[in-house]
Amino acid sequence: MRHRLLLIKGCFRCLSCGNEITITQQNKSMVAPTKCDKCSGKRFKLLTDKSEFKDLGPLPLTEQPTLEQLKKELQGSETDIIYEVE
Ligand SMILES: [Zn+2]
Repeated sequence: MRHRLLLIKGCFRCLSCGNEITITQQNKSMVAPTKCDKCSGKRFKLLTDKSEFKDLGPLPLTEQPTLEQLKKELQGSETDIIYEVE
């Protein structure tokens, strides 16, 4: 059975300079960095291996796709989660 995962700490890597930024999540919606503090870059990739997730228990089948699914898709493909800030 699939489990719902809540992102506790998100580790993001700047796509411009490789700087890693860890953001402790306050809410249930994911918070990404607004800009890189080293190069002011605005594109980030979520590093699921370095992020912390909390297991919220089994996922009802009616739920929308979760971070766990995104994580699985990442492991099974070359796709990256990219954040681009306006
Ligand atoms: Zn940067």
